Amino acid sequence: MRFSHRLIILFFMATSFNAVAAVTELPDALPVPGGIAHVLLTIDSSEPPVAYFGEHRLLIKSTVGTQYQQQAPWLALVGISLSTPTGNQQISVDNRTYEFKVTPKKYREQRLVIKDKRKVNPNKLDMTRINTEKSRMLGALASWSEPESTTTRFQRPVPGPFSSPFGLRRYFNDQPRKPHSGLDIAAAKGTAIQAPAPGVVMDTGDYFFNGRNIILDHGRGLITMYSHMEQIDVAIGDHVSTGTVLGTVGNSGRVTGPHLHWTVSLNNVRVDPLLFLVPDQH
Ligand code: ZN
Repeated sequence: MRFSHRLIILFFMATSFNAVAAVTELPDALPVPGGIAHVLLTIDSSEPPVAYFGEHRLLIKSTVGTQYQQQAPWLALVGISLSTPTGNQQISVDNRTYEFKVTPKKYREQRLVIKDKRKVNPNKLDMTRINTEKSRMLGALASWSEPESTTTRFQRPVPGPFSSPFGLRRYFNDQPRKPHSGLDIAAAKGTAIQAPAPGVVMDTGDYFFNGRNIILDHGRGLITMYSHMEQIDVAIGDHVSTGTVLGTVGNSGRVTGPHLHWTVSLNNVRVDPLLFLVPDQH
């Protein structure tokens, strides 16, 4: 009797631990433009299925230890771009398709005054540089690698208030520009920036808009980027763990003051970094 009682307690401990793990391991589901859809794949395979949204390969997670364990063996984490139309969308897995629904979200508007007019209307020489940097950056964000595991919950890269949310519709000196593709965290110049999860440094550079910039590859199309840095303390190819110092906050590139512009890209789509942050760090 005593023995079985103990077994029950152990069982409860195991399930409650799983419940905690489920909350901490998956990014939040928010199927809006700029968000993430959780799409369950009822495919009985021992290996993760290969799935695509458009032409981009998707990050697939086992549902073991998550709230989805009883429903399907695999889960696709689908990054939805800000330009994706609302309504039904589908992903393809071999010759099957799975549907999910994108619901609307209205993002706020932001108007900024940039004193350096060249950063708003770059000259011809600047444009050559910008285009070269852009293709290098887009190439990095579109890449695919398969490390042993991919962590899909992030620690904050820096402490500090969120000064500008993801998705803002922006105007520089009253001219419309692309929506805000990252999350701005205000912090003093020199504040250490820490890796939010394990990864490999795939690019470092000093860009016209992004300033000193690092791109981290977490695997399976999950890539993060750190912009406007003061100092870079890692090199291309470095393996980093959660908490590794990447460098410091600065005001390099097109900025109005020191802050970290933090980008999270999933299946080559920029999504709201807040969805990946552990809840008590929002
Ligand atoms: Zn920003």
